Amino acid sequence: MSAFVDEFMAELKAKNPGEPEFHQAVEEVAESLEPVLEQSPEYRKAKILERMAEPERVILFRIPWVDDNGELQINKGYRVEMNSAIGPYKGGMRFHPSVYLGLLKFLAFEQTLKNSLTTLPMGGGKGGSNFDPKGKSDGEVMRFTQSLMTELCRHIGDRTDIPAGDIGVGAREIGFMFGQYKRIRNEFVGVLTGKGIEFGGSLIRPEATGYGAVYFAAEMLATRDQTLEGKSCLVSGSGNVAQYAIEKILDLGGKPVTFSDSSGYIYDEAGVDREKHAFLLELKNVKRGRVKEYADKYPSAVFTPADPAKGFNPLWAHKADCAFPCATQNEINGKDAQNLLDGGVYVVSEGANMPTVPEGVNLFVAQKILYGPGKAANAGGVATSGLEQSQNTLRLSWDREEVDARLHGIMKSIHRQCVDASAAYGFEGNYVAGANIAGFLKVAKAMMAQGVV
Ligand code: NAP
Repeated sequence: MSAFVDEFMAELKAKNPGEPEFHQAVEEVAESLEPVLEQSPEYRKAKILERMAEPERVILFRIPWVDDNGELQINKGYRVEMNSAIGPYKGGMRFHPSVYLGLLKFLAFEQTLKNSLTTLPMGGGKGGSNFDPKGKSDGEVMRFTQSLMTELCRHIGDRTDIPAGDIGVGAREIGFMFGQYKRIRNEFVGVLTGKGIEFGGSLIRPEATGYGAVYFAAEMLATRDQTLEGKSCLVSGSGNVAQYAIEKILDLGGKPVTFSDSSGYIYDEAGVDREKHAFLLELKNVKRGRVKEYADKYPSAVFTPADPAKGFNPLWAHKADCAFPCATQNEINGKDAQNLLDGGVYVVSEGANMPTVPEGVNLFVAQKILYGPGKAANAGGVATSGLEQSQNTLRLSWDREEVDARLHGIMKSIHRQCVDASAAYGFEGNYVAGANIAGFLKVAKAMMAQGVV
């Protein structure tokens, strides 16, 4: 690490104590930017990176609500408005007990660079709550979500800040949030994305993050004149991103053999086919069940319960060609990364945000595998949110083929930007450096032009 990165990180850690995920996300970017800051000292003088690592605004609020037993519950609500240099703040809301300010700052920081890569005019933001939707009734989720939006609605707007979904926030939660926003503000605008198709949502938005991560893998494979046809694929998670990554792997002729939730994982040696995939969607989106039920139904599948004491996740130790981590941050530790390489995996496309710890990232980069980091590989979701906003503004709806073609085009463009930026700064084939540099440069130029704000 250069003296600049050392000093910058020491100051960042001192100013933002107890936020390890935020430190991790910023450090990776700072390291990639060393040659950029050397070649363009004006960015250092203007303290662009220092400003990018400080949210423009953070909103913290109380969310009181009443559960089905008549008990009063209180959760914390957050919105981190990170950077609006290239467009209004844009990024998802996460409902998970692990949510705290540092986690959302990491996600909002990543989001700023990711949104820049999409080619669309979107700044970076992220929000959420430590609310746990697991085991809650629809009525409880609605009352909680309405209480959240009663406060949040004063801070967001279709030209200010446009939230979307993330872990624990899907179509149901977005619907409740939209309804409450409209009721209080008395305006029907595209203030949220991921909306239902009947009230301004876009076709392909639910599929977009998973599809995009697979399109990105296909682009990386194309640089070696290969395709996904016949490749076996490890997928983690079984939520929104994982479900549609599996679908697109099937579309492109690959064979998904794993998926998971926080209770454990499924290994299906015979592969998840269309019928099994439909069962998984019903299990997760309608019955809201656990992955073990898949193994109860299909004898070719084995369920392994999660065991944090093991120190590694056996899901990543199966032999395969490709891996699509689609669950959560830091789900691939150093041992998992080594297991992936030992098992023959040479394509990793991250549907989740920062799923690989720095030791694993360094291993993938050193081994020169095709490694697509989350901020590039999973940008298809927010890109399609951008397309949803365009359709809302134009007051029309594009058909599936049109949205999918635009998504595919954007993923190709993100891949191209990563390849070009990494080559321009001497990091050929390193998609981590490519994504960080290309994402940074657009935001940095806009910030330079807008003065000290
Ligand atoms: P989701 O629908 O809520 O699904 C999350 C999945 O990951 C579930 O299977 C969940 O299992 C598992 N999971 C979550 N936290 C976990 C933990 N701490 N340990 C083990 N498993 C865990 O969320 P999603 O929208 O698919 O998001 C997944 C990842 O993609 C996140 O990193 C998110 O930031 C990223 N992402 C999402 C989008 C999007 O458009 N939705 C866009 C870009 C990136 P349980 O149900 O058991 O918790």
